[in-house]
Amino acid sequence: MSRLVLLGPPGAGKGTQAKRLAARLDVPAISTGDIFRANVAQGTELGTTAKEYMDAGKYVPDTVTNAMVRDRLAQPDAAGGFILDGYPRTTDQVRELDDMLAEAGTALTAVLELTADTDELVRRLTLRAGAEGRSDDAEGVVRTRQEVYLEQTAPLVQVYSDRGLLRSVDGLGSIDDVTSRLVAALGDDAPAAGLADAG
Ligand code: ADP
Repeated sequence: MSRLVLLGPPGAGKGTQAKRLAARLDVPAISTGDIFRANVAQGTELGTTAKEYMDAGKYVPDTVTNAMVRDRLAQPDAAGGFILDGYPRTTDQVRELDDMLAEAGTALTAVLELTADTDELVRRLTLRAGAEGRSDDAEGVVRTRQEVYLEQTAPLVQVYSDRGLLRSVDGLGSIDDVTSRLVAALGDDAPAAGLADAG
């Protein structure tokens, strides 16, 4: 059973790789960023709150985010495992996630960290701004998001490393190469199916 967290700075490719790994492991990829964006698109109250923070490159308050993830992990499809993309992002969220899983009598099986240098990240995000038109990919906001990551989320690498859960993977290279590295890092946790299945 895979209960995974995918960690890494904005632009490291978490979303892309989470979807591929999810297909391969047959578990849902749960992206807090995607859930927030869906709420913004649908004009929900959650979306209205989240948009304000997202457009500024800041984190949505933990109370909002934690409740949303708690709901999502309680859905039946997450009972057989999951890949969390973009959560936890603060040490408070780490504690909340621990509690949620403990209540369900489970725990994380591994934390995958995607690494990439800042120049490459800024380049990718700037390209994405052109391609997808995400309002938080505007230039100043990209920089803020990198700073917020370094300050609030980078410390989680040490937290999970201390627990013996961390597996760091180089996020530079082709999408297929990075997927292969992640699968290799999972070792016995990943089925030996061909990469073509990962979609
Ligand atoms: P990226 O990893 O490229 O920053 P995401 O789609 O994961 O993109 O997140 C976009 C935005 O959604 C973040 O900048 C933040 O405002 C909000 N967000 C996503 N996940 C969280 C979280 N766990 N806690 C707080 N805010 C979050």
